[in-house]
Amino acid sequence: MTEIVRQRLDEFLASKELRRTKQRDVIVEAAFSTKEHFTADDLHEMVRKIDRTVSRATVYRTLGLLVECSLLREIELGRDQTYYDPNFLDKPEHNHLVCTDCGRVVEFQDEHIALLEDCITRRLGFTPASKSIHIEASCEELSRSGKCGYQVAALARDHR
Ligand SMILES: [Zn+2]
Ligand SMILES: [Zn+2]
Repeated sequence: MTEIVRQRLDEFLASKELRRTKQRDVIVEAAFSTKEHFTADDLHEMVRKIDRTVSRATVYRTLGLLVECSLLREIELGRDQTYYDPNFLDKPEHNHLVCTDCGRVVEFQDEHIALLEDCITRRLGFTPASKSIHIEASCEELSRSGKCGYQVAALARDHR
C-alpha cells in the first residue's frame, strides 16, 4: 500500500470515526496490489488468498469506503457488472477503450480529450467533477488474424 493510499484512508476513517482493522488493511492491500480493474467478487477472491476469514460483506463495505474517499473509482466496462479501478491515483484523467470481442481493456490518457470534456461540460453550464470516456471497439488483433489471445484467456477465465 502506498503512502498516499495509507494517508488518505487514515484521514477518511478518522473523519468517520472508524477504526483501522486488520481485515480492512488486507482488503486495501489486495485492491492496490493490481493495476487491473476488478469486480467485488474478484477482489474477494484476491483477499481470500491472503486471509480466508474475510467475508464478502466486509469486502463490499470496504469497497464502498474506498470509493467514498476517492481512492477507487467505480467504472462500467459494458459487461453488466460494476468494476473498480485502482488507477485513478496515478492517472486521474484516464479513459477506457474496451474490445467488444475479447473484453480487453486499454487505458489511455489524452490532454486534448481532457480539455474537450472540460469545454463541453462548462458550455452546458456544468462544473466538471469526474469524467471519463468509455469507447467500445474491436481490437486490431482479432480483425487482422481472426483470433485474439485475450479472447482465449477470457474464455478460460469465465469457465474456471
Ligand atoms: Zn482504468
Ligand atoms: Zn479484442
